[in-house]
Amino acid sequence: MRHLISHRLRDFLAELIDDIDPAARLVEFREVPDGRYALRVDIPREQGKRLFLFRGLIDQALTNPGARTLVRSLLRAEVLHLGAQRSISDTRRVRFERTSLTCALCSAPIVGRAGVVFHFGVMAHRGCVGRTPEAPA
Ligand SMILES: [Zn+2]
Repeated sequence: MRHLISHRLRDFLAELIDDIDPAARLVEFREVPDGRYALRVDIPREQGKRLFLFRGLIDQALTNPGARTLVRSLLRAEVLHLGAQRSISDTRRVRFERTSLTCALCSAPIVGRAGVVFHFGVMAHRGCVGRTPEAPA
């Protein structure tokens, strides 16, 4: 039978994580087989992977300063890793947003290729080009 994880232990871990980065959150914490806990930490815009840590280590961290330091280092490594992951994700997101097509004149998305023209080297709706007042040649 699965016994309930004490609120004290969960609060303790949540506090450690909060100390490392107040934006990071303990989103999962439960017992799994083989004497381990599964836990997951998220930061804004980046979801962590499930970590499996020995139950004895986490339980000891409540009272044993050495175990606490070790758990804190593991959690810090995870939060730093998530931060690095998020930078990569953000870069990809920006790249994607830049390459998604918008009209250079009205900034609305360009859907499909019909009615699209190149106007001074940028992509625009044909209708928008017609509406643009142009300087006399
Ligand atoms: Zn347009």
